[in-house]
Amino acid sequence: MSKRALISVSDKTGIVEFAQKLREQDWEIISTGGTKSALSEAGIETIAIDQVTGFPEMMDGRVKTLHPLIHGALLGRRDLKTHMDAMRKHNIEPIDLVVVNLYPFKETLLAGGNQEDMIEKIDIGGPSMLRSAAKNHASVAVLIDPADYEVVLTEITETGETTLETRQKLAAKVFRHTAAYDALIAGYLTEQFFEGKPEKLTLTYDLKQSMRYGENPQQDADFYESGLPSLYSVARSIQLHGKELSYNNVRDADAALQIARDFDEKPTVVALKHMNPCGIGIADNIELAWDYAFEADPISIFGGIIVLNREVDLATAKKMSKIFLEIIIAPSYAADALVVLEKKKNIRILTVDFTEKARSEIFPMVTGVLGGLLVQNQDVLIENPDDWVVATKVQPTETQMKALGFAWKAVKFVKSNGIIVTNDHQTLGVGPGQTNRVGSVKIALEATAEKPVETQTGAVLASDAFFPFADNVDEIAKGGITAIIQPGGSIRDKEVIDACDKYGIAMVFTGVRHFRH
Ligand code: 5GP
Repeated sequence: MSKRALISVSDKTGIVEFAQKLREQDWEIISTGGTKSALSEAGIETIAIDQVTGFPEMMDGRVKTLHPLIHGALLGRRDLKTHMDAMRKHNIEPIDLVVVNLYPFKETLLAGGNQEDMIEKIDIGGPSMLRSAAKNHASVAVLIDPADYEVVLTEITETGETTLETRQKLAAKVFRHTAAYDALIAGYLTEQFFEGKPEKLTLTYDLKQSMRYGENPQQDADFYESGLPSLYSVARSIQLHGKELSYNNVRDADAALQIARDFDEKPTVVALKHMNPCGIGIADNIELAWDYAFEADPISIFGGIIVLNREVDLATAKKMSKIFLEIIIAPSYAADALVVLEKKKNIRILTVDFTEKARSEIFPMVTGVLGGLLVQNQDVLIENPDDWVVATKVQPTETQMKALGFAWKAVKFVKSNGIIVTNDHQTLGVGPGQTNRVGSVKIALEATAEKPVETQTGAVLASDAFFPFADNVDEIAKGGITAIIQPGGSIRDKEVIDACDKYGIAMVFTGVRHFRH
């Protein structure tokens, strides 16, 4: 009796050649509606599935292969007499090979399918056959990937059957595939049906890029993208120019995109180095915002990552092209601006979809630890200044309040202990990542002191967490700062407030902290 294969594929790549070769080896082929048409067109003879089941395909294809004559043929153990007897009794003829790939759920999602489309793209019979065949890999070979057709054909041509080793590997691959397929459906339906519960999103990731190396050349690394498309992201960015992104590029670009997301109202430029902002500028036009971000720290911006939240115009492009930058990201580029930027061979030019900023907030953040993963939702809270409390005798002026609001948004992204000094439109000094807070204060103030006196006027300071001691305020007063914003909540808040009162500094408590460990 000749061997039998069941072929039911949505992605018909390579299927005609594959089926042709099977027929040459005298295999019988059973196939479902669309697959049968494709094979018949190529002159390949197949048996229709309804001929095997005695049931028509029905309900728009929802029910095609869900039948004991199919699943019995896949699941029956060839080494057990009871199973073989049952097969004979019920006229079940064994199937030795299954070739299935599933309804294109992910592709339809990426193409913007609506809920009705997506529900129809949940494949039922396909995964069922894959699971039956993979469970019974002792006897049945199962293919989901055209890349594996070749190896199976070679074995069949040489020996008439597949090897156990190949069947085992293919079975494991099938379960990886169906697990990811179901996880993506779970993620999609959760997003649709559970509002505002990002931590419940099922995490599914697909390999996007194998990287040359990781953080250091001796580390291997891969870049995975979320199964649920997140269009405001490095993972779904479109690269217009330059070399492939490196591991460190991806992390930096991501951090810069997260900062830019919070600065919405005005044209904003974020410059970032090694995960910390080194300059943020806001203005009425993007060119001036660039000037502010550049002047904020003309040294650190060299080799920096830049995110601009408006189209890049020619004037801004000309200015940016004067220095070496690693990456530029913007919603779009004027044609003449792109020509200027593309003259620089090494710069990576990217676009992302800024209209998807809000939706990008639902994606959980994953951090690896030895032997585990930590998952948390993003720190997307932007507080209402009306909820802030002025703790000191001196009240901040309206200009100071504006500057404090800007500083508070900016400090959120400085590595902890994080201190930032700003005026109302640009950062002046960043103090990131010190193991004590006074250290960060000193660094931020030193950088501020190097700025022209007129930019320093009206400088305010933000701290990502409370001051544990009043010594911070002593340093801040020396630096000529007139207003502070911080969460409050230290047991020594009183001492800190008293110190501010002594120096005539206004201090606002937000009641919320934004650590970046
Ligand atoms: P065709 O293009 O051959 O008509 O359909 C192929 C697709 O149908 C494959 O993606 C396969 O996974 C899927 N499929 C096979 N049997 C069933 C079934 O009984 N129910 C559903 N919903 N899909 C099936």
